[in-house]
Amino acid sequence: MSGRKDDNDMDGLKPDKKYIYCARCGEELGGTYHFYVDNYLQVKYFEQQDGSDNAFCSETCAAVRAQERESQ
Ligand SMILES: [Zn+2]
Repeated sequence: MSGRKDDNDMDGLKPDKKYIYCARCGEELGGTYHFYVDNYLQVKYFEQQDGSDNAFCSETCAAVRAQERESQ
């Protein structure tokens, strides 16, 4: 007789994440997204401390946003 119980204690590392949207086209990002990790670029292109304007659905959107900031 095995007294195994099915505990699902696997949500210990789940971050309290809100929905994130692409900062360029507004598409909802489901878990994975592209963002600039380089500190220099973050300071140069983005203003939000929480990184909400540094999240993109694709590298293309990220590159376009960077170009826009570059030309401002
Ligand atoms: Zn996008």
